[in-house]
Amino acid sequence: MNIVIAGGGYAGLMTALRLAGRTNGADITLVDVKDHFAQRIRNHQAAAGASIRAIPYAKLFRGTRIQFVQGQIESLDAGACRLHVRTGPITRALPYDLLVNALGSFTDVDSTPGVKAYALTLDGRHSKLLRETLMQANQQAGQVLIVGGGLTGIETVTELAQAYPRARMHLVTSGVLGEALSVAGQATLDRVFSRHNIRLTQGRRVVQLDSDAALLDDGSRIPFDVCVWAGAFVASPLAREAGLSVNARGQMLVDETLRSVSHPAIIGVGDNAQFIGSSPERAPIRMACATAMPMGAHAADVIASLLNGTQPAPFGFGYMLRCISLGRGDALVQFVAADDSPGPRILTGRGGAWVKELICRFTVWALWAERRIPGLYTWKGRLTGTKRIAEAAHGPHRRSI
Ligand SMILES: Cc1cc2nc3c(=O)[nH]c(=O)nc-3n(C[C@H](O)[C@H](O)[C@H](O)COP(=O)(O)OP(=O)(O)OC[C@H]3O[C@@H](n4cnc5c(N)ncnc54)[C@H](O)[C@@H]3O)c2cc1C
Repeated sequence: MNIVIAGGGYAGLMTALRLAGRTNGADITLVDVKDHFAQRIRNHQAAAGASIRAIPYAKLFRGTRIQFVQGQIESLDAGACRLHVRTGPITRALPYDLLVNALGSFTDVDSTPGVKAYALTLDGRHSKLLRETLMQANQQAGQVLIVGGGLTGIETVTELAQAYPRARMHLVTSGVLGEALSVAGQATLDRVFSRHNIRLTQGRRVVQLDSDAALLDDGSRIPFDVCVWAGAFVASPLAREAGLSVNARGQMLVDETLRSVSHPAIIGVGDNAQFIGSSPERAPIRMACATAMPMGAHAADVIASLLNGTQPAPFGFGYMLRCISLGRGDALVQFVAADDSPGPRILTGRGGAWVKELICRFTVWALWAERRIPGLYTWKGRLTGTKRIAEAAHGPHRRSI
């Protein structure tokens, strides 16, 4: 069996490392355009000048059965089961029996005119330019506009406000800041924004960017020296272009075992996949590292089952926390129910920052641990999936006597 994993982010790496230690008979190849794992959840820290450790794939895969191919994945021929990968001037076809699509997401810069030309994003490739531009804005006490009031926008504006105190920060969001948080969580954001003198414009959509100003849907303009676009993420275009069933954000639609609903030889994990649970009340899986790693791990378990000829368990998942850094030394930890709805409890300040940092470190630690002890990684709600299979086979109320 020839298994190809496209993308070596949180989800793809977790699949590869978990699978490598549990299957002897399969060839496992991971393809990524970079030669290292980048900690994307720390990209706002990189924009603020922090040096973030990159982990070479060569180091992570040493001593495992994972083959690494460095190259840009250009297209997928789902009918012929081939991935087209360009390395330098050469494009080659990589055949697969099972493909794991873990190509993640990136900031949508196409939906609003001017964004591609005049804004920078937190996607990693802008890191150096972003840092240099922000340093300059700081020296000149310039205006920095952050567009997007989701978790990424909040983490970014607070991090930048602390790192570049002379620059004037302004965040604009089409919604309400922190609308998915509890009242106490929202009050924390208000306090931190006023402590850092961050200007906030809520309920207004940016409809166009010019070189020095954003035009809003009420006709007003916000001038800027630097614009950081932290709007919605969209999935890698590969699945849509290959004709797989996808949603409006380009995420491939996957069933309970994370297999494409249109092409079952392709498994989707992480930001690139939207899980269609069998129960209508199930909350959608957010694009997050917190969901990418469980999906990656579950994909490995599904493949192991397929190789062993057993029935793969459905994916089970429950949320626990939303962790939002608010600059160094401060964070908001919002405790949530399994369906991601906020509860009354929060943790803030140094305690919150400590939890957030631990979680960021845990993501890397979990990958190394999985490499050593495959199958170790687990998550909340994992067994719910297994339970559903048992219920389907025996009925929900059956008891042994
Ligand atoms: C600033 C910021 C802060 C965040 N903070 C949090 C947080 O606190 N908690 C949280 O849960 N989530 C957070 N997120 C979201 C989180 O980073 C993503 O949800 C997560 O990275 C998704 O993992 P993934 O493996 O699906 O994709 P990625 O981590 O994006 O990995 C995709 C991989 O595919 C590779 N790739 C893509 N296209 C190609 C191609 N054509 N050819 C070859 N290789 C390709 C990329 O190089 C990359 O290695 C944050 C995101 C940002 C930007």
